[in-house]
Formats: sequence, structure tokens, C-alpha cells
Amino acid sequence: MKIGCKCGNVSAEIRGASSLTVNRARCYCRDCQASAEYFGAEDILDEHGGTQVVQTVPSRIEVKSGWGQVGCLMLSERGLMRWYAKCCGAPLANTVADPKVSFVGFLQTAIRVPENVLELEKLIGPCRFRVNTEAARGAKIERFGYRRSLMKIMTGVLVGKLTGAYKKNPFFDSETGKPIVSPKVLSEQETDTLYEKVDAACGM
Ligand SMILES: [Zn+2]
Ligand SMILES: [Zn+2]
Repeated sequence: MKIGCKCGNVSAEIRGASSLTVNRARCYCRDCQASAEYFGAEDILDEHGGTQVVQTVPSRIEVKSGWGQVGCLMLSERGLMRWYAKCCGAPLANTVADPKVSFVGFLQTAIRVPENVLELEKLIGPCRFRVNTEAARGAKIERFGYRRSLMKIMTGVLVGKLTGAYKKNPFFDSETGKPIVSPKVLSEQETDTLYEKVDAACGM
């Protein structure tokens, strides 16, 4: 499955993508909404503020081009690392800050092929996980798939740790475990401004 930024500079592939190896999810949390605001990428949010992501283990990522253009954003010292393409500003993927945790969630907008939702569903199945639905906009969205998806993610993390596969992660240096670029951490004020926008969009 091909992934990449909007302008095509940054590209990679998820090897062996199938409904067994990847998980489609929607996250409604305030941080995902705030980062969509930051990137000016409202198009990644659905009408309820949900972000569609494709989750897998980083060892499946095969870098193709432009990785020098990858940047990293954090809304605060804690929380997810939000990877994006500096060339066109397109958000790409989220990881946790600890490279030992083999987990990556690609934004569905970064999936290049198949771009058609039906084709995507054929390849990797439907959305199986809705999370952080308490921050959804406009309607009450039910959380689902929590246990199953968490099991799948934890299995990936555990296998990554046991086999050392976690070291194959293009977002972190395999020797030092440091992120490939130092993350830009927003100030509390910057993040608060984003949250205000999110709350305004939620009609709160
Ligand atoms: Zn989120
Ligand atoms: Zn680009």
C-alpha cells in the first residue's frame, strides 16, 4: 500500500498490508483535531471531527523517497509525535514518543494507493475501531472495537519488543533510538489557541 505526502516528494510503502496486518480506526480526540487545525488540514476531519487512521507496526514501512523532508510536531512534551511532510505541509503519521513501542497510525489522507475507499476496504477491511468519541462534534458517536484493536496493537508492540523488530522504524534512529528530526514542541499558549478553535468548531 503506497503512502506519501500531497506533492509526492515523500513516499513509502506499507509492506504486506491486509486486514490482518493493519487496522483502520477513527480518532475523535481533541489533540487530533487540534493538529488538523495546526496543519490547516481540515479535510482530514470528518463531520464529527474524527480522523481516519491506518494503524500498523513501523517495521512494515519501506521508505521510497524524500524522507529528508519529514518533520515532527508535538502539541506538548507528552503525547504523540505527529509526523508531516515539510515540502507541502501534509500530515503523514502519528507515533508514540518511545521507539520501543512498535506502533504507527498513518492518516488515511496519506494513503496514496488505493485512493478509492471501496478498494481500500477490499484490501484492509472496514474501520474497526472508534476511539476518544467523547470529543466528537455534532452528534454522539459510540466507541467500538476497543478491546479487539487494543489486543492487536499490543500484540504488535510485544512482538516488536521480543524480536527486536521495533528497531526497524524509519521515524527513529535504530542506534540511538532518537527521533530522526527533533520535534517542534508547541508552547502551551500555541496549543491553547488550537484547542480554542477546536472547541469553537465543536460549538462548546
Ligand atoms: Zn486522536
Ligand atoms: Zn510534499
